[in-house]
Amino acid sequence: MRAIEFTKPGDLRIVETPEPVQPGDGEALVRVHAVGICGTDYSGYLGKMAFFSYPRIPGHELGVEVVSVGAGVTNVKPGDRCSVEPYINCERCYSCRRGHTNCCENHQTLGVHCDGGLRPFFTVPARKLHVSRRLAAEQLALVETLAIGCHAVNRANPKPGENLLVLGAGPIGLSAIEFARISGARVIVLDLNEQRLAFVREKLKVPDTIVAGPDALKQLGELTNGQLADVVIDATGHNESMSRCFEFATFAARVVYVGITSKDLVFPHAPIMHRRELTLMASRNALSADFPRIIGLIEEGRIDTRPWLTHRADFADVPGIFTTWLKPETGVIKAVVNVPAA
Ligand SMILES: [Zn+2]
Ligand SMILES: [Zn+2]
Repeated sequence: MRAIEFTKPGDLRIVETPEPVQPGDGEALVRVHAVGICGTDYSGYLGKMAFFSYPRIPGHELGVEVVSVGAGVTNVKPGDRCSVEPYINCERCYSCRRGHTNCCENHQTLGVHCDGGLRPFFTVPARKLHVSRRLAAEQLALVETLAIGCHAVNRANPKPGENLLVLGAGPIGLSAIEFARISGARVIVLDLNEQRLAFVREKLKVPDTIVAGPDALKQLGELTNGQLADVVIDATGHNESMSRCFEFATFAARVVYVGITSKDLVFPHAPIMHRRELTLMASRNALSADFPRIIGLIEEGRIDTRPWLTHRADFADVPGIFTTWLKPETGVIKAVVNVPAA
């Protein structure tokens, strides 16, 4: 069968790979229908992702159908349509035993640390499959993207009426905005790009946006009666934003980093971090329980996936089209690849 492979950085090609094997104990063989592409895939393609090794079949945002199951599998059956939780955890380490499966000490993300789903079939632990009777494959492929924002918002645990500031309106920021809105918090979004902010206002129905710049703090003050933000979620992944974002936080606020930087962060402690007694949190991946919750929210219409799914491509066209999705002017929020059976 054919698969899409990053053979080495900058080299994406369609290759022949072995046919799938029958599922072992606790596993399911799945037919992949839809694969979402995100910044992690782009970074892996460009060779900018530290965890990536090559050659690698990418694809961790997956809408699949169960073909067959191995011994002991009871949560899914052939024909079930599922979203895949691509965070393969060991179930044995200290993190896993405490329920922090998102930061397993032996963690492997499908399509990053091990081969993913840009191929027609593969086997996966059945416990990583989350069934929906109603969602289309491309909606199921979007669940993982949403899970990143879901977990980040859960980390902050916003209360209704609190002011929650999301920094960065790229796909991770947008996913956080969905759950921030659902929490009942008052959501404010800051980004450098007015086009992205227009998308937030018009498509996600969040009216309060701020263009990043010298008077952003003043604007936040005006929107919040001078209180600033009870929760700041930094989804920029930019060193400068992550170093400076505390200035937007009110006293006793929570700050969550959901973007990633590989550089060291430097920020003032006594005048802001200490004086305001801020709580700083990282947010990595998502928990298993987030997946059925998100599926339910989409099924109930509380999350509208239509604005998200901006670009679609057929498997065979991916080598020619992939790099165009790297360009901001294409307006890509989520590109989804349709995978044929052969
Ligand atoms: Zn992703
Ligand atoms: Zn573990």
